[in-house]
Amino acid sequence: MRLPLVVGNWKMNTTPAQAEAIARDLVARLRDVHNLEVVLAPPFTSLPATAGVIQGTPLRLAAQDLHWEDRGAYTGAISHFMLEAVECTYVLVGHSERRIHFGETDHVINRKIHAALRGGLRPILCVGEEEAEKNSGRLREVLIRQIERGLDGVASSSASRLAVAYEPVWAIGTGHAATLQDAAEAHRIVRQALEHLLGEAEAFAVRILYGGSVTSVNASGFATHPEVDGVLVGGASLRSEDFAAIVRAGW
Ligand code: PEP
Repeated sequence: MRLPLVVGNWKMNTTPAQAEAIARDLVARLRDVHNLEVVLAPPFTSLPATAGVIQGTPLRLAAQDLHWEDRGAYTGAISHFMLEAVECTYVLVGHSERRIHFGETDHVINRKIHAALRGGLRPILCVGEEEAEKNSGRLREVLIRQIERGLDGVASSSASRLAVAYEPVWAIGTGHAATLQDAAEAHRIVRQALEHLLGEAEAFAVRILYGGSVTSVNASGFATHPEVDGVLVGGASLRSEDFAAIVRAGW
């Protein structure tokens, strides 16, 4: 079976000192947690401080983004090499905030997926429909497009390094999580698209996370649903007590 994966996305929050404090608290709270992977995604500047705290623990580090090239004249950008050098294991790619506020297209996202895989990182491809797309019955079309274009050219042999986060845009930071039924339907669509692209056995290994207003209250529903392999948590992941409760939700 797939090992559950719980990821905390701290977005543009925390100085290195604040990140260190949250990470320390989480390490203490999650000492006895087994049989799932817990990953922290602080901003770039807090990656080394967080890495220093979680070293030697089962917690892992993710970056929130990367550039599609390995190095070069790309002022302000960070490459997979740099992330690997500060102990990142995972990287978020194509988060809806990057698509909306930074104009990232499926093509750019695809190049970033390839950069992560070219290096030693495990990309978590974020997909999800906007509210208008949901209301006009376009969920399937949007998800299939984002998966097919985002993963274009990815070899089946890379599937074991890949995860997908289904994050409906209307659920992110709104306090209105998708229902379990809606999340499960979207996850089935994602799984089918992955099977089509990568092959059935390879797609089976890919973890599909739900993201969007996950809290310590609603996490147990997601944790016990067979279609949900984990969660990507934004706001609640900055409060260590809440995030620890999500990790302990019964995965
Ligand atoms: C996210 O940003 O990936 C997210 C799911 O945010 P929130 O949990 O705050 O909705």
